[in-house]
Amino acid sequence: MLKLEQLYEGKAKKVYRTENPELLIISYKDDATAFNGQKKGTIYGKGVINNKMSNMLMKYLEKQNIPTHFVEELNDRESLVKKVSIVPLEVIVRNIAAGSFSKRYGIEEGIVFDSPTIEFSYKNDALGDPLLNDYHIHALKIASEEELETIKKYSFGINRCLKELWSKCNITLVDFKLEFGRLSDGTIVLADEISPDTSRLWDSATGKKLDKDRFRRDLGDVEAAYDEVMARLNKII
Ligand code: ADP
Ligand code: UDP
Repeated sequence: MLKLEQLYEGKAKKVYRTENPELLIISYKDDATAFNGQKKGTIYGKGVINNKMSNMLMKYLEKQNIPTHFVEELNDRESLVKKVSIVPLEVIVRNIAAGSFSKRYGIEEGIVFDSPTIEFSYKNDALGDPLLNDYHIHALKIASEEELETIKKYSFGINRCLKELWSKCNITLVDFKLEFGRLSDGTIVLADEISPDTSRLWDSATGKKLDKDRFRRDLGDVEAAYDEVMARLNKII
């Protein structure tokens, strides 16, 4: 499939048109940002890892009956995906308190919830991705009631699948962010990526952070952490 003009350049990926109006090529960069773009840097090799890991996880989820945008891995950094109209929500599922949840509600990182939580942010950098509840989502006409129910069902299903998968890698899935989109016929599918950029992954034995928090919090060994997660996943998939 031929890569035609670039449609969009985001913080972590570039998106290209293809000859097929229903398909896009996504190209993963090594650029890293945090705190709504205020902190910028490079995580060398991240684009390759995030491309491959996201594809592996989406293929795995497809087998568990979760529809995704994934079509084909084209090379180290590029993949062919189904074009969707993105539902402008960052869907965050949490198993353990961390990050903004801990900060917002004043609870220490590492508290394990009795059952997973879900929250939604409005995907809008200019507004700083504000939190939304179901009523706001409907008031703003971001998604219908039925679509939101589908998104929630898939999100908790993905959490169940990925928690189990990561536990086989001796990794605890703390939280993660998902994006969903509509195909041309309106079908909701999982889009964007699932990677250490968009998930919190802690070593189950030591609690060591193996994700983007190493970059956000200047913990060092960022590349090594991404390599470690990829190596562990490669062993079990
Ligand atoms: P951001 O826009 O937050 O800086 P990225 O650098 O990851 O993020 O850019 C990728 C963009 O492509 C995101 O805006 C994401 O919502 C969008 N996207 C992901 N998958 C698809 C898809 N299958 N179809 C259309 N857009 C997609
Ligand atoms: N996340 C993401 N993109 C965002 C915000 C959050 O991928 O724009 C991921 C983040 O990596 C973490 C989870 O969503 O795995 C929850 O993030 P949180 O709300 O705690 O935000 P942060 O700590 O990044 O402020």
